[in-house]
Amino acid sequence: MAKNTNNRIAVKWVRDKAKAAYVKQGCCYICSSTSDLELHHLHSITNLLYSWADSLGYDISTDEGILAVRDEFISEHYSELYELVYTLCNRHHVMLHSVYGKIPSVSSVPKQKQWIETQRAKVTGGVVTGRSGLFTQFT
Ligand SMILES: [Zn+2]
Ligand SMILES: [Zn+2]
Repeated sequence: MAKNTNNRIAVKWVRDKAKAAYVKQGCCYICSSTSDLELHHLHSITNLLYSWADSLGYDISTDEGILAVRDEFISEHYSELYELVYTLCNRHHVMLHSVYGKIPSVSSVPKQKQWIETQRAKVTGGVVTGRSGLFTQFT
């Protein structure tokens, strides 16, 4: 509804500003593909932004509102925005979100990491043992 619409706009303002500084790797962390690369944030920007604004009582439902606090948000969430990220190909990115949802919950962060490492190990063919148990463990 109205909140969702505004939600997208506020997040877009943050992405626009922050993306200039993103360091995207040259290939998918999981499969090393070099095409259709996208950046995945372990911490959903939507979750971060809205819980942060709520906790401080900021109104980010308007352009003016979000623009007034955008730099503050970005500087306080440096690691979530720039470090706790993975470069993934579109295929693996879509796969991840089909497992953890469009806006993964904060509590899923360790699980997302584990899932990414597991997929990577499967692709590189090493390390993973007990293959048959993998999916029951991670879905
Ligand atoms: Zn991939
Ligand atoms: Zn993502």
